[in-house]
Amino acid sequence: MASYRRDLAVRASVDQGLLSAAAPVVALLDTAGILASATALTSAFAAVTDAPVLHAFAVKAAPLVPVLRLLHEAGLGVEVASPGELALARAAGVPPARTVLDSPAKTPAELRQALALGIAVNADNLQELGRLDALVASAPTASPLGLRVNPQVGAGSIGALSTATATSKFGVALRDEGAREAVVRAFLDRPWLTRLHTHTGSQGIPLALMAQGVGEAYALAEEINRAAGRQQVDTLDIGGGLPVNFASDEETPTYAEYARLLADTVPGLLDGRYRLVTEFGRSLLAKHGTVLARVEYTKTTGGRPIAVTHAGVQLAARTVYAPESWPLRVLAYDSAGRPRTEDVTVQDVAGPACFAGDLLATGRALPLLRPGDVVAVPDTGAYYFAHHYAYNSLPRPGIHGFTVDGDGAVTFTTVRRAQTLDEIVAEAGGERADALVRQPVG
Ligand SMILES: *Cc1c(COP(=O)(O)O)cnc(C)c1O
Repeated sequence: MASYRRDLAVRASVDQGLLSAAAPVVALLDTAGILASATALTSAFAAVTDAPVLHAFAVKAAPLVPVLRLLHEAGLGVEVASPGELALARAAGVPPARTVLDSPAKTPAELRQALALGIAVNADNLQELGRLDALVASAPTASPLGLRVNPQVGAGSIGALSTATATSKFGVALRDEGAREAVVRAFLDRPWLTRLHTHTGSQGIPLALMAQGVGEAYALAEEINRAAGRQQVDTLDIGGGLPVNFASDEETPTYAEYARLLADTVPGLLDGRYRLVTEFGRSLLAKHGTVLARVEYTKTTGGRPIAVTHAGVQLAARTVYAPESWPLRVLAYDSAGRPRTEDVTVQDVAGPACFAGDLLATGRALPLLRPGDVVAVPDTGAYYFAHHYAYNSLPRPGIHGFTVDGDGAVTFTTVRRAQTLDEIVAEAGGERADALVRQPVG
């Protein structure tokens, strides 16, 4: 179904002039796919618990206001981790009561603003709790307040995304000497501290390890509540991190599998005594984004065919810099946007940037690409084209949402327009051309 819609959208992008020789790269979002993932998430948890659940979309995965509005209308909240992400959430109309603020480096001003608005805040560490003490004492707040813990259950296959290692920078490390006792004491000293937060990591973390991390946070909540003699911890924020399959169109693992695993391994979490917060990002958006780029030139170098396209490091920085961890598929279409299947040859697919490593794929068996062909890079809806990397002053591409009607007709709507050259100049200090020559030197 997703591939059916994608093929129609590629064709329509060419037919409707979204992608052309003059506009050689564009990004697409499959609106129906995003909504289907939001529904899959809410129904997966509804199937295993009657507890209230706030599914807070991790804004960093797709920091686009129309995406946040779509998810908000689908019943989701947001997880923000910076003043910029909070501003996006507010611009999308997400109310404070549906917003959760995490981040390891919140300033006093950010904390004060969050408490004034009534946004839920998860403190990252005991020093931050000290700051909250002063703020809570100085003015009443509607903000539910929590503490992030690191269960130290170990790493997945991608070190940079493993947040529950022994030495991770996030949260209070529970297995460190004296840490668990300090956390319990911190709760007993602060009756307003009512949440525990854990996020065991992202892509590359096996489901069982995620569930183990959640289980550790649950066990700690039970311990705190026993010590307090009341249900002081009333909400568990279990983070996000469901991995995404980048190898095919199959959506695996599913939210339903993860929710069932939690029901099997941490049943007490779901028995209705705790409210829940989740913070999924990648798994809600990744499969629903596709980059389209035209092939500008083709060549053979050292016997290897190479297609030079307009999609590279500026849209897929992780893949270009860490190709082993972040492989992406590349799909071939002809210049009219029809899928190609013939003449399969091992080749490289390169981006437009001026460094040798700007390759989307190496040694990939694909129909031999020709100038004017279109390549599609699926699974790029999270942490890719919305996370522009301004190498070579390459512009941010336009992002367009699309829907397909019963007759296969495709309608596009602009989510973010392409960056203009004037904007690139302005953002590069264009109004301050004289700034340095006017400075007295020596
Ligand atoms: C990044 C992040 C998420 C989202 O992770 P995904 O892998 O995109 O689901 C959720 N919570 C926190 C605290 C994060 O840092």
